[in-house]
Amino acid sequence: MLAIMLGPPGSGKGTQAAKLSQEKSLVHLSTGDILRNAVKDGTQLGLKAKTYMDSGELVPDDLILGLIKDRLKAGGTKGFLFDGFPRTIPQAEGLDRMLTEIGSRVRLVLDLDVSDSEVVKRLSGRYFCPSCQATYNYPNKLPRREGICDKCNVPLSKRKDDSEEVVKNRLKVYKEQTQPLQDYYKRKGLLKTVDGERTIDAIFADMALQLDRTI
Ligand SMILES: [Zn+2]
Repeated sequence: MLAIMLGPPGSGKGTQAAKLSQEKSLVHLSTGDILRNAVKDGTQLGLKAKTYMDSGELVPDDLILGLIKDRLKAGGTKGFLFDGFPRTIPQAEGLDRMLTEIGSRVRLVLDLDVSDSEVVKRLSGRYFCPSCQATYNYPNKLPRREGICDKCNVPLSKRKDDSEEVVKNRLKVYKEQTQPLQDYYKRKGLLKTVDGERTIDAIFADMALQLDRTI
């Protein structure tokens, strides 16, 4: 089983991927984890990746694909759930080529659908208390009084990353680079769109059903 999760920033993709992989005994593969593990294990590709990361450069697609290939070949699991990879059309094409080489293929692409306005609300709706560091967010954990910490009664702050301008830019990058993957996988008949503006449990049930139908 090889499935991919797509979804804009703030769609809850990472949370759902972690929950789904645990429930369905799949390995949750995020690019960050793959890179960190390869560096930790000191593999040849891992050391090569480290030189890019240390100098603050992007790790090239070929190298990431090589690391993914090693992990897939190591096996030891019923399947894999990709989260955050592929992010671009060239990465998706590279992944398909590599999978063909090892006699495998993508079986399912779950696309978590969340509207732009909801993404902006969610990502720019994250606050923390400067006094006790408690975090709050829209829509799941709102303070009792708007903008005020429940415990300390002090005004909440926002991280710089969560300003509306930064959020809109992240969304723009997603639309330009990653959204074209929807069409790419739709043409292959692999795309299943899931309404991401429901409760975590409802979304999870829907995704689990799609996985069960595919396995
Ligand atoms: Zn507080």
